[in-house]
Amino acid sequence: MKLQSIRGMNDLLPSESPRWQYLENAVATLLARYGYSEIRFPIVESTELFKRSIGEVTDIVEKEMYTFDDRNGDPLTLRPEGTAGCVRAAIQNGLLHNQLQRLWYAGPMFRHERPQKGRLRQFHQIGVETFGMAGPEIDAELLVMTARLWRQLGIDGAVALQINSLGSAADRSRYRAALVDYLQAHHGELDEDSQRRLQSNPLRILDSKNSATQALLADAPVLSDYIDSESVDHFARLRQLLDSAGVSYQVNQRLVRGLDYYSKTVFEWVTDALGAQGTVCAGGRYDGLVEQLGGKPCPAVGLAMGVERLVLLLDELQQLPDSIARQVDIYIAAVGDVAVDGQRLAEQLRSSGDWRVQLDCAGGSFKSQLKRADRSGAVVALIIGEDEAAANSAVVKFLRSGTEQQTLAQSELSAFLTAQL
Ligand code: ATP
Ligand code: MG
Repeated sequence: MKLQSIRGMNDLLPSESPRWQYLENAVATLLARYGYSEIRFPIVESTELFKRSIGEVTDIVEKEMYTFDDRNGDPLTLRPEGTAGCVRAAIQNGLLHNQLQRLWYAGPMFRHERPQKGRLRQFHQIGVETFGMAGPEIDAELLVMTARLWRQLGIDGAVALQINSLGSAADRSRYRAALVDYLQAHHGELDEDSQRRLQSNPLRILDSKNSATQALLADAPVLSDYIDSESVDHFARLRQLLDSAGVSYQVNQRLVRGLDYYSKTVFEWVTDALGAQGTVCAGGRYDGLVEQLGGKPCPAVGLAMGVERLVLLLDELQQLPDSIARQVDIYIAAVGDVAVDGQRLAEQLRSSGDWRVQLDCAGGSFKSQLKRADRSGAVVALIIGEDEAAANSAVVKFLRSGTEQQTLAQSELSAFLTAQL
């Protein structure tokens, strides 16, 4: 029996990793420009953390978590998202005492879902969490920042922003009661999933893809009629900030998000270029969560982007620069008994420029080394045979253009390559 990876948990092959690095570098650079710092926290946490933060009756906790007992019998879970671990780490390490924080993290998340395009069991997020800022300015910053990212990546034409306000926890429970009253009266017309959710998590019914349920919802009570004046005002100010920044958005009354901890602002960046897996970035405000996990009350808002979906979108829209596929600039072929000379030249070039230099360490004929040079993607091959080694020279061969090859002294190479590459 062949050993295979777990379904929905993919290898990232060398041919694909440059695309991920391109995206990750773009995001890391952008976040640094807005003053965000990186935090890293474990992939495994106590199961209790996710139950208490995400909510017992959410899809994630009910059906999607990878949960197991370790050798001590302690219930542990592979993180299905980053916010819970980030908040736990921030409380535990005292990052929230009279301090404002702008944090980000990146890494794998695990959910037992049905694998398909853009939906995996081990997937990757880049997440951002901010702490200590109650006003809508920081909500706006997150959205303005992501809008800038989409522009930089060239995908701004393909993503649209949807926003909503969930009000406070008290507002939502009043609304939930009204919604349940209304839907209970139409119980028979609901799809099976929604009937089940009516007991466990009625707000999720607003997300239903079932058309009969959607039709029923047209006359249902709307959340915006139930939210308090402070939340209404917060949302109005957020919209004003987005308007003045030129970030366009749609208010989607049905946007509720699948996690319990949100309050006030929630948002999603969606695309229709990826089929059903259309949300590439999502987040919202969770002012109650820090206290709920044992910290002092602390307002917070964050987001997470799906790396797989963003890479798919970049690919779909042909916004991945060709240059990212090229991993080598200069390829050095040492032909004959000149290994020492090849090694020395490679090191000398790495010291004198920031080129990516690959030395052929597999030997063989001139022809086979040159074939590998071509496959490497390098722009230039430097060839040293016994004659060149004796004369301290090298043959410079251009692999991507018709430029005539030439022989140069090794001492001249650095200046020559600086001018050429
Ligand atoms: P969806 O509605 O697509 O299931 P979600 O609301 O469960 O998404 P979040 O928990 O908000 O997703 O996670 C933030 C982002 O992480 C999503 O917008 C998406 O880009 C990505 N994501 C979530 N689940 C997966 C998955 N199973 N595979 C790949 N990416 C995912
Ligand atoms: Mg989901």
